[in-house]
Formats: sequence, C-alpha cells, structure tokens
Amino acid sequence: MWGSPDKATMKAMMREMDYITLVADGQRGIPKECPCGARIVHEISKIEGDLGNRYFTCSAYKNDRFHWRIPWFHGVEEEFDKLREEIEEQKDKQCQKLSDLEAQVKRMSEELKKHRGMLEKLKDLVDHVVKTIFDGW
Ligand SMILES: [Zn+2]
Repeated sequence: MWGSPDKATMKAMMREMDYITLVADGQRGIPKECPCGARIVHEISKIEGDLGNRYFTCSAYKNDRFHWRIPWFHGVEEEFDKLREEIEEQKDKQCQKLSDLEAQVKRMSEELKKHRGMLEKLKDLVDHVVKTIFDGW
C-alpha cells in the first residue's frame, strides 16, 4: 500500500522539483556551467537523425532532467538577445548620463554668466572709486 510520504521525503521531493525547475528555466544564453556544477562542452551530435547538430552539453550529462543539453542555436540566439538587452540598457544609462551632464553644463554656464555680470559691476565700482579718488587731486 502507498502511504502519504513523510516530511523528509516531501522535503527531498520539493528540492528535486526546485532543481528540475532550475534546470528547465534557469538557463538563458550560452551556459558556462551546468546546475550540477560540471562544465559545459560543445557537443556535435553523432546520433543518427540528429547527426551534426550542435549542443551546449553538461560534461556529466545524463538524460535525467538534471543536466543541461541545450541546442547550440537556442543558446546562441538567447545570448544575442541577452547582449542586445545589455547594450540597450547601457545605451539608456549613457543617454541619462549625457542628459545629466548637459543639465550640469547649462547650470554652470548660467552661474558663469551671473559671475561675469558681478565682475562687470565690480570693475565699474573700482573704476568709479579710482576716478573719485584721483579726480579730487
Ligand atoms: Zn550537469
């Protein structure tokens, strides 16, 4: 008879499900390492009916849903998408930085204009003082 699984068995089953989910959904792009920790190798299929197709495959691969064997095209296509997104993000960040710098230059330019005005007033004041002092002599 089948009883309901005990707590430890349930935990082990949950861990296994989490791991299978990670293996199934945790990959995007060209993998560097399988979730099992083994390195990924570039495999060219020698299986008839699949001959010559390329895969990114776990070096400890077994067909048990615990390892990655990702079609080469799929991995490369996702890698391109990922890189494109990263480039777009960088572009957005650079545009924001440029916009911030333009605002900063505008503020500094306005301050400079204000300081020039103050310098002109000071120069006029000095000229007036000098003229007043020397005209009295
Ligand atoms: Zn693996």
